[in-house]
Order: sequence, then C-alpha cells, then structure tokens
Amino acid sequence: MRSNDLAKLSPWGPEKKLKWFLNQPVHRSYHDDVLVRLEALKKSAGSSLKVEQYGKLTINPEKFPLFAVRTATPSLSKPNILITGGVHGYETSGVKGALLFLENHIAKYSEHFNFVVAPCVSPWSWETINRLDPVMENPNREFKPQGKAEESLFLMSYLSELGIEFDGHIDLHETTNSDKVFLPEEYSKNGLELHAKDIYIPDGFYLIGTEGGVRAGLEKSMMDAVAKVTHIAPADERGMILDTPLTTEGVIHSSIPGLCAEMTTAVKKLGAYTTEMYPDSPKFNGMSVGEVEATCAKAQVACVVGALEFWVQTTA
Ligand SMILES: [Zn+2]
Repeated sequence: MRSNDLAKLSPWGPEKKLKWFLNQPVHRSYHDDVLVRLEALKKSAGSSLKVEQYGKLTINPEKFPLFAVRTATPSLSKPNILITGGVHGYETSGVKGALLFLENHIAKYSEHFNFVVAPCVSPWSWETINRLDPVMENPNREFKPQGKAEESLFLMSYLSELGIEFDGHIDLHETTNSDKVFLPEEYSKNGLELHAKDIYIPDGFYLIGTEGGVRAGLEKSMMDAVAKVTHIAPADERGMILDTPLTTEGVIHSSIPGLCAEMTTAVKKLGAYTTEMYPDSPKFNGMSVGEVEATCAKAQVACVVGALEFWVQTTA
C-alpha cells in the first residue's frame, strides 16, 4: 500500500471529524476491563509495583485516566523493559496481553529486569473499538515531537520524566479483519482512497522489527514461544508479509515515523518490536469469543516471555 499510488481525495475537516466522533457508540468499559484489574494488581503486588496515573484524556478526564505500572524500586544493574498495549484501542489482545503479563509473569521476571508497562494507551478507542482516537488521529503514527494524538504525547512525556533509557520495548498489536473498514476510513480522513479489496490480512501472528534492526536469535526465541500458542503468518507467494521480505519466519522489519515501538532507545539496544496477533483466523472457528481472546492474550504474553528469556540468557 504505497500512498503515492492511491487516488487523492479531500482530507476531512473538523466538522466531518466531529460528526464521526459523535457517531461512535460505546461497546465496552475501560473501567471494568482495565481499571478494575489494575486496582486488584495494586493490592496483590504490594510494594513491588507502582501503579501510577500519567495523564487523562481531554475528551472525558474522569472516565479516562491513563495508567502505567512500573517496578517500584528499579535497579541500576538491570535492563529496562517497556511493554505497551492498546495504542490501537480496538486491538483487544494488546490490552489483555499486557494485563495478563502484569498479573501472571512480571513478578518472575522482576528478578532480572526493571519494567514499565502501559496496558491501555488509548482508552476511548478501547471503549468504542476504534483504530483512531477521538480527534481521528492514529496514535501509532504520533509518537514524535509535535505529535497530534494526546494518547501518545502523554505517554512520551511520562517516560521522559521517568528519565529511563529503555533497553527493550515490545508494543502489543493485532491485525484484524476490521482493518478492511478501519484502514480505508483512516486513509479517507487523510485524503487518500484505499479499497478494502486491496488490503491483505496475513493469517497468523507476525512480528515487526525496526528497519535494519535484525536480531535473529531474539526473533527466533520470540516466534518459537508464540508458535506454541498460535500459528505464525505464512509469507505470501513472493516471500513477503505486507510487501516486506521476511528475515525470520513471521518476522519483518520496517520503520514508519511516529511508531510507538520506535520512540525509545530500545531500538538501538536490545530491540524494539511491534507484535501483530490475528484474532479472526478461520483456524479459530468453533472456539468461543472468550477462548479466542484468551488464546490471543496468551500469544502476546508468549512473545514477551520469549524475548525476556532470550535476554536473561544473553545479557547476564
Ligand atoms: Zn495496531
């Protein structure tokens, strides 16, 4: 999908964007799905983790406080790992995977690493199941100075205040069948015409590393761990996923300005990756929604754990 090849339309103005915003119904509850679990975590983790608010969405500050969880007493000798979920609010397993990691795995790996985990970066988009934020910005293109999505700016400013140099970063995403609706909408908003039929959705989990950042051993460890939970996206007939050649099975490298995974020093250190789980696979036919969601969240965690295990072995 090279934007140069696409027909030009008029970008949407403020009135059309406002009309879009007013037409987005609420489908699920950020409070029930995320805040309640963070509250429980705060109690169970005791003094080992800090659950702290780093901002609140302008659209409804009471309803959308932004939270991160971090190692309460970081050690200078341990690598710093960042995990982010829900940068795209519609990508359910990004949020559920980050929460699952916090509930079941962070304690074990805190022996080796300091963590910062932001489990639901875009809570309005979680509730309305959207790719874009309330003002129709894509948070995963706005992790840059003068970015236009406040979800991204709040997180960037929090991380910069913490003053941590991150060594590793995994940003949890999904590629879904609803991308055939969301991507044309996003392109249209930007004044470009993209047809659903031209969008290729890989069937399976894949991983996106930053351009030039091939780390074969790490990537194999991550993908081997994921393959125990879900199937890996095959390459197309040209040996590519999304027009990009594979480096390892299910792994591509490409860089886009403003990407969450590219915002920290992790890109140049142990590595920074964007996961892409595929929840709509025909291979999940016959499973309940709950079973699919649980599998997807587990696959996200497996990918994170695959990276942590590799780093435990190689950075000790
Ligand atoms: Zn995404």
